[in-house]
Amino acid sequence: MSFDLDSLVRENIKSLSPYSTARDEFSGFASVYLDANENAYGSAVKGSYNRYPDPKQILLKNELAAIKPVSQENIIIGNGSDELIDLAFRIFCEPGKDNVIVCPPTYGMYAVCAKINQVEIKEVPLTVRYQLDMENIFSSVNDRTKIIFVCSPNNPSGNVMNAADLTRLCNNFKGIVFLDEAYIDFADDESFLQNLISLPNLFIIQTMSKAWGMAALRLGIGYASAQMIEVFNKVKPPYNINQYSQEMAIEALQHTNVITEWIEKIKESREKLVSELKQFLFVETIYPSSANFILVKVKNADELYAYLLQKGIIVRNRSSIKESSQCLRITIGTEKENKTLLDALKNY
Ligand SMILES: *Cc1c(COP(=O)(O)O)cnc(C)c1O
Repeated sequence: MSFDLDSLVRENIKSLSPYSTARDEFSGFASVYLDANENAYGSAVKGSYNRYPDPKQILLKNELAAIKPVSQENIIIGNGSDELIDLAFRIFCEPGKDNVIVCPPTYGMYAVCAKINQVEIKEVPLTVRYQLDMENIFSSVNDRTKIIFVCSPNNPSGNVMNAADLTRLCNNFKGIVFLDEAYIDFADDESFLQNLISLPNLFIIQTMSKAWGMAALRLGIGYASAQMIEVFNKVKPPYNINQYSQEMAIEALQHTNVITEWIEKIKESREKLVSELKQFLFVETIYPSSANFILVKVKNADELYAYLLQKGIIVRNRSSIKESSQCLRITIGTEKENKTLLDALKNY
C-alpha cells in the first residue's frame, strides 16, 4: 500500500510556519549573545543554566545515532515519550473527525491523549494470548483511521508482539503505525527499529524512563523517517528538553555497561519471582514477560491488592480493565524488595 505522509498531516499543521527561536536564527559561535533576553550574569543556582538549551538536541541525537541503527535526522527527543504520543495526535488527527485504533489491555495514555484531543478511539482487544487481532484491526480501519497504537513489549501484559504481524500491519495500513517500545531493553527479541528505513509509516518510541533509570528527567525518544521527524519538529515546543536532562542523557549513554548489567539482573530476578509465585494457590496465571514487570492473574485481585497495600507494598491493580480482570502488575524490584513481597504473600 503506498504511503503518502502529506495526505495524513492535518491542514493547519501543513501550513504552519514554526516559531523561530533565537537559537534557530543564529547557531554559530559568537563572543557576545544579546539575542535571547537571557540573564548574562549567570543562574540563581550552581551550574550554568542561564542560556536556552539546544532546541534540536544535536549532541544527544549524535550519541543516540552512534548506538542505534538510524541517523540523527530520524530522531526526535520528547519530554518523556508521553509528549510524543500527544504530538502524534496533534499532527495527524482532526478533532471530532478522525479516529485511532487502540488494542487493550494496553498503556492508558493512548486513550487519554485521544480524549484530550477529541479523537475517536476504536478498541480492538488483543487476543487471549495478548497478540494483535489482525483481522479485527483491518476490519475496524476506515478512511478516517489515522493511527494504530501497538505496544511491544505490551504494558501491562509484558509480551512482545509477533514481528510478522507488525510488518503486515505497516504494509497494509496507509496511516501511522505507532509502535511503543518503552520496555524493549528488557526483551530478548530485537527492536523493530532496524525496519524503520523500509517502513515509511512507522513511528517508534523508546524511553530513558525504564531501563535507563531516568524517569524523573523526562527523556523519550521517537524514531521515524526524516520527513516525518521534520513535521514533529515543527510542532514540538522549541525548548522541550531542558539543558540538565540533555547533559544527563549524554552522560548516561557513556554508561551502557552499567545498564546492561542491571537489565541482566532484572531479567534474572523476574524469572526467579515467576518460579516463586507459582507455589501460591491464589496465583492462577503468570503471563510470560519480556519487560521489567509481570502480570499475574489471581483469585481476588482487589483483596490481594488491599492486603499488600496494608503491608506497605504497592503493586498496580489492573483488574478494572476487562481484558486483564483479576490481574495485578508487579514491577521487578531489588532482590530485597522482591523477597519482602514474597514474604508478605506467604502470610496472605
Ligand atoms: C512508561 C511508559 C511510557 C512513558 O514513558 P515516558 O518516557 O516516561 O513518558 C510509554 N509507554 C509505555 C508503554 C510505558 O509503560
